Amino acid sequence: MGAEQQVRADFVELYGAEPEGVWAAPGRVNLIGEHTDYNDGFVMPFALPHTATAAVSRRTDGRLRLHSADIEDGVAELRLDDLTPESDRAWTAYPAGVVWALREAGHPVTGADIHLTSTVPSGAGLSSSAALEVVVALALNDLFELGLARWQLARLCQRTENVYVGAPTGIMDQTASACCEAGHALFLDTRDLSQQQIPFDLAAEGMRLLVVDTQVKHAHSDGEYGKRRAGCEKGAALLGVDALRDIAYADLDAALERLGDEEEVRCLVRHVVTEDQRVERVVSLLKSGETRAIGPVLVEGHASLRDDFRISCPELDLVVDTALAGGALGARMTGGGFGGSAIVLVEAADVDTITKAVEEAFAAAGFTAPRVFEAVPSAGARRLA
Ligand code: ADP
Ligand code: MG
Repeated sequence: MGAEQQVRADFVELYGAEPEGVWAAPGRVNLIGEHTDYNDGFVMPFALPHTATAAVSRRTDGRLRLHSADIEDGVAELRLDDLTPESDRAWTAYPAGVVWALREAGHPVTGADIHLTSTVPSGAGLSSSAALEVVVALALNDLFELGLARWQLARLCQRTENVYVGAPTGIMDQTASACCEAGHALFLDTRDLSQQQIPFDLAAEGMRLLVVDTQVKHAHSDGEYGKRRAGCEKGAALLGVDALRDIAYADLDAALERLGDEEEVRCLVRHVVTEDQRVERVVSLLKSGETRAIGPVLVEGHASLRDDFRISCPELDLVVDTALAGGALGARMTGGGFGGSAIVLVEAADVDTITKAVEEAFAAAGFTAPRVFEAVPSAGARRLA
């Protein structure tokens, strides 16, 4: 049975009626543009084939029933009037928060029965949280005929995560899940949310992109994220700009000089300004068909995250170093850092040898075995039935 049929059958068993529809929303990997989204900068994610899938029906009695097939005891019944930001530390905060955000924005959502399941690895830096939010938002947008555009749904989902769940994330994850297209990476300007779909069909050019989930989950990543974010804001304030995005690459040296002995802030600023420039370089390389040449740009991005932003970890560095030693075209950590996943760009013929080399290096270092899979740029959120 496919995911759609399974979710539908489970919904019928749980709630005793057919769902009104079934929707899917993907996780994402970010090709380049890390920690730029809260600096009004550029990002370039693409959607994974892994999705959250939800079967949903409307209710009219102000109740919200939630069920996840992937969580033990993953069932909850809530009253819409009781939904309060940061009151819920469980998985239910993501779908319930979407309902809260929609109602808070004045949209007439009167209740729902939701059953969901997800193939997006959770906590691996691949945005399982955004997939959950976006699949629920799209379903409710369709069922209640709210008429919201994809970018508006992404904004509401970001608000869900920031305010209701209480995680200070940028706009990239939700926009990627809502707006990506198969065979493309999404070049997104996080200041005005303008987008370009950039063709990114590696298979046609004899390459593959591997995702290596290190299985490392850093307990302090939220606090460290907050510190980096605050440091970037301090940098922008010291330099007299709204956001670090406003520092042109050509003006970077002068900006660093102005920051004087603020060493920590200088490093954060240098990462963000060079990272924005790396996104622009990758976009122009892909547009001119020089796909293999993005490899070294990915490697530069990793070095910047490791040395200037200081959010890598031994496992992520080992993936990158081993892959490059084994002949990969490029590699870097992806996502928020302190664990999660790395991406590796390889010639198709090298997939097996590089995968094996990474697995052996992890075993030799005594690390938990990584999960390696191929990422094919896939479709964004959609209605399945
Ligand atoms: P990431 O988005 O990188 O995967 P997050 O910590 O932002 O990591 O989101 C992971 C959380 O999302 C989980 O702790 C859980 O609460 C929720 N989640 C993810 N997948 C599911 C699922 N299939 N069912 C229920 N909750 C899920
Ligand atoms: Mg997340």
